[in-house]
Amino acid sequence: MHYDVNLKRNVDESYPILVVKSQQEIIDEISQLSYNKYALITDSNVQKLYGRTTLFSMGSVFSFEAGEQNKKIETVLSICEKMQGEGFGRDSLIIALGGGVVGDMAGFAASIYMRGIDYIQIPTTTLAIADSSVGGKTGVDTKYGKNLLGAFKQPIAVYVYPEFCKTLPETEYLNGMAETIKHGMIADASFCDYLEVNREMILKRDVDVLGKVALSNCKIKAGVVEKDPHEKGLRRILNYGHTIGHAIEHISKFKLSHGQAVSIGMAVEGKIACMLGNLEIKSLQRQNKLLSDYGLPIVIPDEFNIDDILEIIKLDKKSKNGLARFSLPCDIGRMSKFDGEWASSAEEPIIRGAISESLSRDGH
Ligand code: ADP
Ligand code: ZN
Repeated sequence: MHYDVNLKRNVDESYPILVVKSQQEIIDEISQLSYNKYALITDSNVQKLYGRTTLFSMGSVFSFEAGEQNKKIETVLSICEKMQGEGFGRDSLIIALGGGVVGDMAGFAASIYMRGIDYIQIPTTTLAIADSSVGGKTGVDTKYGKNLLGAFKQPIAVYVYPEFCKTLPETEYLNGMAETIKHGMIADASFCDYLEVNREMILKRDVDVLGKVALSNCKIKAGVVEKDPHEKGLRRILNYGHTIGHAIEHISKFKLSHGQAVSIGMAVEGKIACMLGNLEIKSLQRQNKLLSDYGLPIVIPDEFNIDDILEIIKLDKKSKNGLARFSLPCDIGRMSKFDGEWASSAEEPIIRGAISESLSRDGH
């Protein structure tokens, strides 16, 4: 005897991304949604900077000590238990206000709280605006690595208020520019033109230009995620620069920021694309100039060892049969399809060659 439980589902997880001109606009939008209680999750830095602004008066504030080292299950658990202590039910809304660390943890809390409640994202870093607030990846780190526990959980809305970027330290601010240039490289040559032409305004943090950049970033990333929500193929292109980038970020013990590591990763992987004959040198040079013009590094610091990098890239999630694979551009704004895999392995001498040419001691 048997019974088939038939749970085939066709779910609609669409949501809007709004660029707003004031905090009040966000509050007005949220107030139109019918939730009983609001839990604003943030970190100590954002609370210090913005704790007296109107957003913080929307509901209870659950703040944790800023820093990636606190992106762990214990922090999520403590927030969830505090919410339960304050009687937050299923009809509550979680508001994630902060950078990627806040967004990942608040989204994860939303995915498990009473088996899942709604949440919205209000990203306050360029990196979170450009990257982590779209795509629905949430989670925490464990002692074995980054983002090893988590869930796919889409927010019900994302509100981008570019003014928040004004208080970011310079390196944090530039961090998001690496992912921004990556987006131009993988999908939109005209966006690369825009980044070249409007560099001064972007570096000055002009809020109107930042709003436009934010929207282009979201459109490009969302366009990819829509076609491949669970990372089966196309979504790998978002990983451009990240095979090498993650390895050197890891080896540097996170002294290099994610944006700096990805920038170097794009320079090395772009080089691999050239060596494989997929990309013209002049396109690589244009990419590298764009990265450097935004104050991002394109050479690997001296103390790095090629063998360490080669060892770590084999562990990358795109690896197949123990071989590292790379998502590679074939032009500005276009990636190589590689039989629908959107990633390709490369012979070790090529990877070694590309890395060694990118080491600063070689004078490149
Ligand atoms: P990400 O760069 O991945 O978005 P974090 O969430 O770690 O990562 O944010 C980076 C740092 O910037 C953290 O120390 C955070 O507290 C701080 N921060 C977040 N938003 C702002 C802001 N608008 N102004 C200043 N600092 C901020
Ligand atoms: Zn990234």
